[in-house]
Amino acid sequence: MAIELPLLPFSKNALEPYISSQTLDYHYGKHHNTYIINTNNLIKDTDLENASLEEIIKTSFNNAAQTGLFNNAAQVWNHTFYWHSLSPTGGGAPSGKIAAMINQDFGSYDDFAKRFKEAALGQFGSGWAWLAVVEGKLAIHKTSNADTPIVHGMTPLLCIDVWEHAYYLDYKNVRAEYVDNVINRLLNWEFANRNLEE
Ligand code: MN
Repeated sequence: MAIELPLLPFSKNALEPYISSQTLDYHYGKHHNTYIINTNNLIKDTDLENASLEEIIKTSFNNAAQTGLFNNAAQVWNHTFYWHSLSPTGGGAPSGKIAAMINQDFGSYDDFAKRFKEAALGQFGSGWAWLAVVEGKLAIHKTSNADTPIVHGMTPLLCIDVWEHAYYLDYKNVRAEYVDNVINRLLNWEFANRNLEE
């Protein structure tokens, strides 16, 4: 069973003006799709040919002979999670269980937003900013390149892709403006609440 490119959970222009359809043409249609093609090529005729994406990621993690497979498979997973972390009706302060947890673990939504932005801007080079559950509490976490919280015992709730390919067509070098718009306009709190239930 080959790994397949999942459908986007919104139309290509649904996140405009914050993330353009042109960015999604490249980011989803080229980058995400290439990680899928590479993963399928690397598992072909191996023991992992019929494994789930999560099994491929966990098996190849910290395996020096499978660095390329880990990087591609984890990027497949991270990108699918990122698309679901965004919503045309998202952003701003949350409601539901996640709202109460944010107040308890960060003090307030504004304190959370400040720290999430700091993590997204503080990730040097390519990587990701995550809101995750770690030992029952919310935590903000950064990962480099393809690294993913699912191999570190964390339960991710939301993420922001801070690779340059995520924002360069729309924002050029200004990562801060992209991150502000994701946090204020796009973060999918319903997805975060669903992830808390699992
Ligand atoms: Mn990306």
